[in-house]
Amino acid sequence: MTELIHHWIAGKPADTPPERTGTVFNPATGEVTGTVAYADGSDVDTAVAVAAEALREWRRTSLAKRSSVLFAFRELLNERKDELAEIITAEHGKVLSDAAGEVQRGLENVEYACGIPNLLQGGFSENASTSVDVHSTRQPVGVVGVISPFNFPAMVPLWFVPNAIACGNAVILKPSEKDPSAALFLAELWKEAGLPDGVFNVVQGDKVAVDALLEHRDVKAISFVGSTPIARYVYETGTVHGKRVQALGGAKNHMVVLPDADLDLAADAAVSAGFGSAGERCMAISAVVAVDPVGDELVAKIAERVRELNVGDGRRACDMGPLVTASHRVRVSSYVDAGLEAGAELVVDGREVEADGAAEGFWLGPTLFDRVETGMSIYTDEIFGPVLSVLRVPDYDAALDVINGNPYGNGTAIFTESGGAARRFSEEVEVGMVGVNVPIPVPVAQFSFGGWKDSLFGDSHAYGPDGIRFFTRTKVVTTRWPDPSHGGVNLGFPQSS
Ligand code: NAD
Repeated sequence: MTELIHHWIAGKPADTPPERTGTVFNPATGEVTGTVAYADGSDVDTAVAVAAEALREWRRTSLAKRSSVLFAFRELLNERKDELAEIITAEHGKVLSDAAGEVQRGLENVEYACGIPNLLQGGFSENASTSVDVHSTRQPVGVVGVISPFNFPAMVPLWFVPNAIACGNAVILKPSEKDPSAALFLAELWKEAGLPDGVFNVVQGDKVAVDALLEHRDVKAISFVGSTPIARYVYETGTVHGKRVQALGGAKNHMVVLPDADLDLAADAAVSAGFGSAGERCMAISAVVAVDPVGDELVAKIAERVRELNVGDGRRACDMGPLVTASHRVRVSSYVDAGLEAGAELVVDGREVEADGAAEGFWLGPTLFDRVETGMSIYTDEIFGPVLSVLRVPDYDAALDVINGNPYGNGTAIFTESGGAARRFSEEVEVGMVGVNVPIPVPVAQFSFGGWKDSLFGDSHAYGPDGIRFFTRTKVVTTRWPDPSHGGVNLGFPQSS
């Protein structure tokens, strides 16, 4: 018998046996470590009803009390971040230091939400018209759904949940069924921090749970993160059902290396951003665009570093862990075959890696392709694994055309010592997040995170100021206190005077 990973509703784990379940693995050993409940429509109905009831009090709870819960949650998360990192590594496979980094980036968003009394300050105009005052407030939207991907089981929920709760909403989180335990750990911390039961709930599961959230009339907003086809589907279905939706999708992130770049710095960055978390990051660099004549030297430097990487069990101080599931390993590996067939030059082949871990782990070593062309599937598709492609182009304009011609627009980076070139690139590139000599430009919590084009559906980025706007509705109140000079009956449209 493995552990049952259940829903969390009304401040405690659900106690009814689930009708459908899924299997959770430790990707470094291949062992089954848990059975996860899959919610059906009635589980979602229960969670929404509980959230709607809890919302009635929570939305009226003072900002001072809300921020004290957030501060308490921040302290608990900080104290117990190593435990959470271990939970992430056990189900996702990423190395422990990377899991700890994920939690740290999540903490930033909790700290941002602690400032909610400032963030929700409205505006006031005295005497907007004679004896008329106008003020605006931001009110919670209601019950909101957060649907998250497998690759950041703690950080992505923490992009949304603290801001949503701070704004006075009640939340239902639907984590990835591949690594569902981090969400329950967060649920326990919220409870310990003093959040009233029912304000934060977790429903586990698959498409059935997602569809139930998307169609439920009492769910008012959806924050989704995942692959592009599902993000598009979630956006379209959620908006048809009258919800506010932000749906962040997949990516193909390019790193341009100009001839004046420090090639050691660029090679270090390409390897870190290409193979960190086994390439299972939406901000991973998957295409290096080498501007002539740096190609040969750059590829040699990247290859030298890739061969040094140590692949193995994330608990053993390795550089890179396994892929998340056996089927994902097969899929990523098939791209290595496809790249070879298409005529790309395989510089480092990860298929025969000797990993420092159990033979049954889902291993694929870091793989480097050179002379990749834009028509090859290793370039067009989001592989989401440790496969880095190098494209060679004659000049800056050709590099820009490659990036702007790609349907994704999540992150990108330029490596150069020229301020002018970097400035021009930042302005001209059609991508939502840009790094200048920074390969993974994930914005800090006081900015917002989001891609362009097929990397985001909706008009709101995640967390930061966009997050506060997304989780609130504006209300404007116009006030006049009766005085004897009100002027009597007037059927004209109100004008300022
Ligand atoms: P996924 O799209 O398979 O799953 C994401 C969520 O959607 C999960 O909770 C899953 O249960 C649910 N889901 C899956 N199939 C569904 C369906 N048919 N109908 C309804 N719901 C469904 O993504 P994943 O494999 O978990 O995560 C990796 C993807 O997420 C990559 O494409 C990556 O680029 C993307 N991602 C994007 C960002 C970003 O900020 N843009 C961040 C992290 C990950």
